[in-house]
Amino acid sequence: FSANVSHELKTPLTSIVGYAEIMKNGMVDPKTVPEFAGRIYDESGRLIKLIEDIINLSILDEGDINAQKESISLHEMAEEIAEQLEPSAKEKNISFSVYGDGSRISGVRRIIYEIVYNLMENAVKYNVENGKVKVTVESDDETVSLTVSDTGIGIPAEQQDKVFERFYRVDKSHSKETGGTGLGLSIVKHGALFHHAKVSMKSKLGEGTEITVVFPKEEE
Ligand code: ADP
Repeated sequence: FSANVSHELKTPLTSIVGYAEIMKNGMVDPKTVPEFAGRIYDESGRLIKLIEDIINLSILDEGDINAQKESISLHEMAEEIAEQLEPSAKEKNISFSVYGDGSRISGVRRIIYEIVYNLMENAVKYNVENGKVKVTVESDDETVSLTVSDTGIGIPAEQQDKVFERFYRVDKSHSKETGGTGLGLSIVKHGALFHHAKVSMKSKLGEGTEITVVFPKEEE
């Protein structure tokens, strides 16, 4: 993992240094400076996202999360995240719908947030023009489940297990465009494990993806 991390950190840093060096040496037409600055800005943002994801994963790895568990409504959280993702959804004219009841789980807010956010963000990122994202929260006597489904590009059957591995991306070149770190789904997997929740996936290439996380219900 450390070797992978170093490699993943080195890539954006190398281009940042490259652009900065060319500018430093005065080799850039002043008109092109904003473009180069923009690339440095984007790559730095990518680096920050990567570091945040790595920190989140190492917190989960160490397992000594001293944050208190609290009562959380997945439905409220999904509504909040849908609002945050609205601008990027709009770019592709993607519609969001969030359904469900107010069932609550007991969890560490920050981790649960990462789980829901990563799933919903992926449902937008890997969606198509005019696509749909549906989030459903359902419960029975013992469990509360969160399902995020999209009408996006789907994941090939033979890679459906692999996408939960660290840094695994189906389409590496495309993933760079979408700004992915390849860590989102491993945070989902480990965050779910921490909360004794189960993750399952159904996906069909060219049709869409549905990921469900089943949590134990909060004890009353
Ligand atoms: P990334 O930061 O690249 O999005 P993730 O760990 O969240 O990393 O996902 C790993 C890979 O799984 C993605 O690069 C993408 O290829 C694929 N993937 C994840 N979610 C979806 C989805 N909803 N639809 C299609 N492909 C997906």
